[in-house]
Amino acid sequence: MPINCNCPVCGSRNTKSLAIIFESGQRIGTSTRDSIWTISGALDLGRSTTKSNWASLLATNAAPPGKMNWSYIGWPLIAATVIFEWPLWVVPAVILPIALLYGASDDYLNAEDGTKWRKTFRCLRCGTTFEPFNQ
Ligand SMILES: [Zn+2]
Repeated sequence: MPINCNCPVCGSRNTKSLAIIFESGQRIGTSTRDSIWTISGALDLGRSTTKSNWASLLATNAAPPGKMNWSYIGWPLIAATVIFEWPLWVVPAVILPIALLYGASDDYLNAEDGTKWRKTFRCLRCGTTFEPFNQ
């Protein structure tokens, strides 16, 4: 029996999982453009290379929950102590409360979030996010 993925709010069948929306919105590529410009009668050959990581806004909104990474907090903190001449105890003073809040089990929590994210669908008509497997 197929899973009913219809939007629970508007009944639209135009729904996609967040993972599909996210992946289909990614553009990572290199574009090289050869161009011949005529500027005041002179011929100019130019080549421009553009590297772009591009994601649509829709895909960005459907991004998976980020993994808690201590280096994102730790390194800027350590840099701040150097730049602003803060005392070094600021680093544990900031990290310890965060560690207590999120707990040592943040990997487990993120795994839970990731599973939920993979199961979540979004209606492309009204924007509602829902979990069809739990209906
Ligand atoms: Zn809908």
